[in-house]
Amino acid sequence: MSDTTFAPGYGPVPIPVRELLPWAIFGGLLLMLAIYFVGAEEGATSLIRGMYVHEFVHDGRHLLGFPCH
Ligand SMILES: [Zn+2]
Repeated sequence: MSDTTFAPGYGPVPIPVRELLPWAIFGGLLLMLAIYFVGAEEGATSLIRGMYVHEFVHDGRHLLGFPCH
């Protein structure tokens, strides 16, 4: 059984851009950080010693077309 009820007059509530913008910036920063670790965490640009991060995201590198080996 479904618990949904049809209630005419109650639609989705719009979210103002002013409230949405900080979350969009935060999500963008997380995305940029993920792209860094997938695409540039290797060799001279590496922040973490060893190949652990590279090996962890290795399939993602190939999936996204970053040069690897
Ligand atoms: Zn590779």
